Amino acid sequence: MSMGSTVSEALEKYLEAGRIAAKLKDEATRIVKVETSLLEICERLEGLTYRLGGEPAFPLNIGVDDVTAHYTSPPEDEGRIPEDSIVKIDLGIHIQGYIADTAITLTFNPNYEDLAASTEEALEAAVEAIKPGVKVSQIGAAIEKTINRFGYKPIRNLMGHRIERYSLHTGKSIPNVSGIEGGAVMEGEIYAVEPFATLQDATGLVRDSPQRYIFRYVKERRLKSKDAKAILEHVKNNYRTLPFASRWLAARFPRDVVERSFEELMESRCIHSYNVLVEASGKPVAQAEHTVIVERDGCRVIT
Ligand code: MN
Ligand code: MN
Repeated sequence: MSMGSTVSEALEKYLEAGRIAAKLKDEATRIVKVETSLLEICERLEGLTYRLGGEPAFPLNIGVDDVTAHYTSPPEDEGRIPEDSIVKIDLGIHIQGYIADTAITLTFNPNYEDLAASTEEALEAAVEAIKPGVKVSQIGAAIEKTINRFGYKPIRNLMGHRIERYSLHTGKSIPNVSGIEGGAVMEGEIYAVEPFATLQDATGLVRDSPQRYIFRYVKERRLKSKDAKAILEHVKNNYRTLPFASRWLAARFPRDVVERSFEELMESRCIHSYNVLVEASGKPVAQAEHTVIVERDGCRVIT
């Protein structure tokens, strides 16, 4: 016991977060069907996260068809999984700030199976390529080449990202296409690698939709209303610097108070909001994602 160093304690927490994330993906595969309620999927998987001993590192993301990232159910969401859809489930788990971030794609239309497979294989190619000293541009090239081989197109304005304690996106990025420079990966670094692919005739870019259901604490500033102060205090204490859902607050504060306060908190830049991202030409998108630890001779997939 006395041998336990800080480094190995951190590693153990990353591995535990990864194990929980992997179980949640299995559970998602079981519960997500055509007609399943989106809100129920969010609540069941987030609830299971706590029962397995973890906490959500961000709200459960569900991406139906061209919805690519940052969608979580708002309070009282009435949406359901549509027939013939392609659905991304992207989840993050943390143990005391040590984060595992991972995603799978489920298809309810056989025509999308290959699109989903292209991102799985691109992720495998990226994992094969990652070792200390490898440039992120080389990893991006491996992802693009694999997706192109399937006859699809990578999403070029979404990237994998480095992870640090209590910080989901930090420092270096891992592109999903070739030609984007950004340094090399180094031993001991943690990365989420996440290829996204869409159809060949799509633009291959995501754009902001006006919907915003996910937020993140930025900093304390002068606020006019008591309610806004109380909500900011609550999110700072409970979610620190990690993203949270407006839905989570709706369970603790009156709905109108949350809505009014969020306006003030965004206006004063105390919290950051994430717009739902959609494929710019409305085409279906697939995603695969793992979190990896860069080791001496390669990388270890923890999810
Ligand atoms: Mn993710
Ligand atoms: Mn990610």
